[in-house]
Amino acid sequence: MQDKKWHEAGEGSERLPLLPLRGLLAYPNMMLKIDVGRVKSLTAIERALNADQRVLVVAQRDANVDDPHAEDVYGVGTVVKIKQVIRLPDDTVRLLVEGESRALLLGVVEQDDVQLGELKRIEPRSPGKTVELEAQVRALKALFVEYAGERGGLSGELMAAIDGEEDPGRLSDIVAAHALSGIRDKQQMLETRSVLSRLNALTIILARELELTKVEKRIHEKVHDKLDQHHREYYLNEQLRVIREELGEDEESDRDQFDKRLAASKIDGEARAQVTRELKRYRQMSSSSPEAQVSRSYIEWMLDLPWGSRTRDRYDVPGARKVLDKDHWGLKRVKDRILEFLAVGAIKGDLKGPILCLVGPPGVGKTSIARSVARALKRKFVRLSLGGLRDEAEIRGHRRTYIGAIPGRIISSIRTAGSVNPVFLLDEIDKLASDFRGDPASALLEALDPELNASFSDHYLEAPFDLSEVLFITTANSLDTIPAPLLDRMEVIEIEGYTRAEKAEIALRHLWPKQLKAHGLKKSDVRLNRAAVYALIDGYTRESGVRSLDRQLASLCRKAAMRMSEGGETPVAINEGALKEFLGTRKYDREPPLKMPERGVVNGLAWTPFGGETLSIEVAVMPGSGAVDLTGQLGDVMKESARAAYAYIRSRAEALGIPDDFHKSHDLHIHVPEGATPKDGPSAGVAMTCAMVSAITGRLARQDVAMTGEITLLGTVLPIGGVKEKLLAAHRMGIFTVLLPGGNEKDLEDVPGDVRKQLKVDLIHKVDQALNTVLTN
Ligand code: ADP
Repeated sequence: MQDKKWHEAGEGSERLPLLPLRGLLAYPNMMLKIDVGRVKSLTAIERALNADQRVLVVAQRDANVDDPHAEDVYGVGTVVKIKQVIRLPDDTVRLLVEGESRALLLGVVEQDDVQLGELKRIEPRSPGKTVELEAQVRALKALFVEYAGERGGLSGELMAAIDGEEDPGRLSDIVAAHALSGIRDKQQMLETRSVLSRLNALTIILARELELTKVEKRIHEKVHDKLDQHHREYYLNEQLRVIREELGEDEESDRDQFDKRLAASKIDGEARAQVTRELKRYRQMSSSSPEAQVSRSYIEWMLDLPWGSRTRDRYDVPGARKVLDKDHWGLKRVKDRILEFLAVGAIKGDLKGPILCLVGPPGVGKTSIARSVARALKRKFVRLSLGGLRDEAEIRGHRRTYIGAIPGRIISSIRTAGSVNPVFLLDEIDKLASDFRGDPASALLEALDPELNASFSDHYLEAPFDLSEVLFITTANSLDTIPAPLLDRMEVIEIEGYTRAEKAEIALRHLWPKQLKAHGLKKSDVRLNRAAVYALIDGYTRESGVRSLDRQLASLCRKAAMRMSEGGETPVAINEGALKEFLGTRKYDREPPLKMPERGVVNGLAWTPFGGETLSIEVAVMPGSGAVDLTGQLGDVMKESARAAYAYIRSRAEALGIPDDFHKSHDLHIHVPEGATPKDGPSAGVAMTCAMVSAITGRLARQDVAMTGEITLLGTVLPIGGVKEKLLAAHRMGIFTVLLPGGNEKDLEDVPGDVRKQLKVDLIHKVDQALNTVLTN
């Protein structure tokens, strides 16, 4: 129909070689590049080149048709002039043509194998300037700018050309050539003769194109985003790495190091997952951010822990005995128990079992025995003092959300140990406290309990740590304050204090050689004789263990070294007489302070966490109205036992020669001096009775006797605890007669032979027996 219209408009016609195009068409006034390969087309070009270089180009209706005839091409094409011909190596030709005018194809004739198009040029009609046209031109230009912006990739030259184009017809052709994508649309624009219609149609098509481009872009972006998420991360990280490198930060190396260490580490399960996750986060952080520091220290902690790395145990019982004997003198019972433990371990192949708890006064070698166990087993050794520890977080750590959080002390110690199976000494388990910050004992229980400790949870690690291979050994001075659930899981081995003779042996065989070595002295440099050691024990120390003895020996070494450096003669001889010169006057007297019998004072014996002690119990009587005062840091049980003693005395007043109304006309004051350590327990009953009777009746009490025992209201003496410690204390103080409850006879076996031999122990059943012995007149 359209063709007809064109027909009507035409005047004269012309013939030009016909060049059918696939998916391409030309507009007037515009350059176009065409690649030509078909033989027919090539001959058509040949013909044109031999004539006036003009051809008629027409788009094929179907690009797939190879040998198109009149009906296969559109009815409107373009007359173009060939500007340039380039022969390409594959027998094709590249043409550069310039569009001249639209042309109506009237028919096709074949002449000498060349298709010629019979055509009629359609000269552009100037539409005349109307407001509508003007508006259309502006609208199209604006739309094109928007479209170009959305689509991108259009040259600045083109944009300038469009902006500056005054001719609406040419403008529409340029826009059509660049903005339209489908050949149908392009063809339609070629066929539309009216400029206004072209502008109209273009505006509509362009608006649609614009919308399509936007949607396409959105879809593309979405897909792109998805695809690129991890690529993006990768690129960003790479960029970050390069930036860091430029800044001279060698953070990358620590990240790499972490990776390597993680790969080499035996860490597994939940813990490995945690570290891997954290490392991934860490990689994405700026290394100077506080967050990165937290993250880094977590990763470091995790990688530093000895996951799965253990030392091989040496279960050689005779060898272990040698080690224990070499390090310690005496302590037979403790050593035997430890060796039994190892023997069982050797058979079972592991050391799981009761936790050993070494109980005894300070300085008796609890710590050093544990150290020897580690040496005997060839295990690593760590020590953690629990004294005064009251915060649960100290055991179990703080969560990472706390600023400056670190793991608890158990995990820290494991890191120090560097293996999952060290000998782990928990010192002073009896000094654990608990308050509002939680109960460290329950956290400790989780570490110690074989049922629970395979997955000990530290708040900081956020992953369980296996403590089941750790050999825990605990120490305590006293069992009284150990939380019951903990005590329940432990096997108690008591280590009592040493006698004078034992101390002297330990000093000469172990402490002295150790101190000499520590001070760089040779045995031949300083001579310490046995008498001096005894004088040291008696005059300069007063303890159950050997800690201050050790200190005094160290002090002697320093003095001797000083003497040598001043050019004094060697060997430096340290005998009893020289002690005063080296260490000053003696601090303690072995002789009892009061030798003569006294009124109202007797020697009691007490057990304290620091070993046995002698207590002098004093009673004063004064006129009054029957009040009984007690002073000197006494515990409740001790106060009650004083009352019981008084009640017994009143009930026996007549037999004891005490006036009937005594209790109405007098007050009693009972005092236990040197009470820096609180004393409690019922065992001072006998001593208090004797002191009271002495005070009330005026009978003098012997000072070379010490006593211990609980009494009942009827004056029966009941057995007490801590016999060995108490007898050692009496012996230490130079008191050789001791009154002991008959019920404690069996405990005398524990007392070292040499001490036992020197002591006169009277076993008593009734308090009267004590009174008879102690009171002199
Ligand atoms: P504790 O842990 O019981 O308070 P330590 O183990 O710290 O005591 O002992 C204090 C010092 O005394 C250490 O140098 C230790 O080697 C030494 N010592 C204690 N008992 C003995 C002993 N029986 N033989 C050798 N040295 C000992």
